[in-house]
Amino acid sequence: MHPYEQYELVIGLEVHVQLSTRSKAFSADENAFGAEPNTQVDPVSLGHPGALPRYNRAQVESAVRLGLALGSQIARRQSFDRKHYFYTDLPKGYQITQDREPVCVGGRLPIRIGERWQEVRIHHIHMEEDAGKSLHDRSESYSLIDLNRAGVPLLEVVSEPDLRSPEEVDAFMSAMRQLVRYLGISDGNMEEGSLRCDCNVSVRKRGSDQLGTRCEIKNLNSMRYARRAIEFESRRQIDLLEQGGQVVQQTLHFDPATGVTSPLRSKEDAHDYRYFSEPDLPPIELSDEFVDELRRASPTLPWEWYRRFRQENDLSDYDSALLSEESEIAAYFRELATQSGQAKAAANLLINKILPHSRQERMPLTEFPLDLTQLCDFLALIEAGTVSHSAAYQQLWPALLESPDRSPLDLAKQLNLLQVSNVDQLEEVVEKIVAQFPDKVKAFRNGKKGLLGFFMGEVMKATQGKADPKMVKRLLEGKL
Ligand code: ADP
Ligand code: MG
Repeated sequence: MHPYEQYELVIGLEVHVQLSTRSKAFSADENAFGAEPNTQVDPVSLGHPGALPRYNRAQVESAVRLGLALGSQIARRQSFDRKHYFYTDLPKGYQITQDREPVCVGGRLPIRIGERWQEVRIHHIHMEEDAGKSLHDRSESYSLIDLNRAGVPLLEVVSEPDLRSPEEVDAFMSAMRQLVRYLGISDGNMEEGSLRCDCNVSVRKRGSDQLGTRCEIKNLNSMRYARRAIEFESRRQIDLLEQGGQVVQQTLHFDPATGVTSPLRSKEDAHDYRYFSEPDLPPIELSDEFVDELRRASPTLPWEWYRRFRQENDLSDYDSALLSEESEIAAYFRELATQSGQAKAAANLLINKILPHSRQERMPLTEFPLDLTQLCDFLALIEAGTVSHSAAYQQLWPALLESPDRSPLDLAKQLNLLQVSNVDQLEEVVEKIVAQFPDKVKAFRNGKKGLLGFFMGEVMKATQGKADPKMVKRLLEGKL
């Protein structure tokens, strides 16, 4: 066995979620991505002496809502601490964070790997603020600082070391992105840095229940980089152990250009940060009403939709995952499935027609030109055999989109798409065709059963494709 296969990866994540609140964590500065550098900077963001921070209710609400979704314990007492370090993008010289009393403790995030579901334990969630952004790439001799991001509200979600592969990390980040979007607390956009993660990686011999020494890879802002960083780092650690060395706990930086992790600094101990209670923000108590109200307003969660689609609507794993990807799509599908009484057909219509159209037109589903009644009528026409499936999808559907105020039935009539499903009428046609080809009838009766297709084709031709194929088949089989 190759040495790599004798080892198991153990990964724990620290995920930073940038919240899409209107203002920053502790000041009235606007919180918006992409503004001109250094335009969203009041004295609090700039760390001017004497400038006082304030709580942002929206940050506390976002934290509690995320905690409730994950089944965490919500701490009723909220306090903040100062974490000191020196860096040019941190004008105050400290970050306001929650060191001793995190807002949420415990909980689980269900993640889906292929068709397998797994729950990852959450250690805690705490509130904090982002630092500014340094731009080092402009020149050799100086760097630029943009402080718009300084003070932007963050939630840090810390997982237990429950993940075992880059695939599981990917699934965890996707689930997290999906969840914060469901809750509407963040856009979860990794490219814009709204969702970032530090990966703690260690390795151990398979079968061992002891944790190895870990290294922390900082600030991975794309899943592709995270995957590569974890793969490189786990191999580095295994090689080291195989050569009789020891892993040293440290903080690493991953360079996407070289694909290599390198030490950023040796791991600081908590006392290096000289944490102490933030004196400018007195602790607050969250009331039961505050928490209960948020609990009541909690939306149906992605994994709950998935389970309903699988169990109650009998959809495939693939369709269930796809339709629960976004809250808006899930709710829309459920409504269409319920009203039409045809879950599978509704799923197909949504996946193959409605979603591609609304994506192409960049319109929310709620603005889709056809309303639910029309969509149900459309599905009913197919189900009843009034219009064939292919005519409905290929001809009626585009026509409906052109004239969204028309009823599907009227339009189908006008386009001459109604199937001949009147038995007497069809029987006549079938009899005529059978009489027309006595040789083929004989051959069929002598065992050339494949000729059924020929007869079907003739009937469809005679009816200009408007006969209900199921009925034609039944009638032909009778006659032949
Ligand atoms: P800190 O980074 O402040 O020292 P913790 O020790 O609580 O905090 O760990 C932070 C993260 O490291 C958590 O996500 C946790 O799951 C993960 N972690 C802890 N020990 C290991 C380990 N041996 N291997 C991999 N990940 C680990
Ligand atoms: Mg850490």
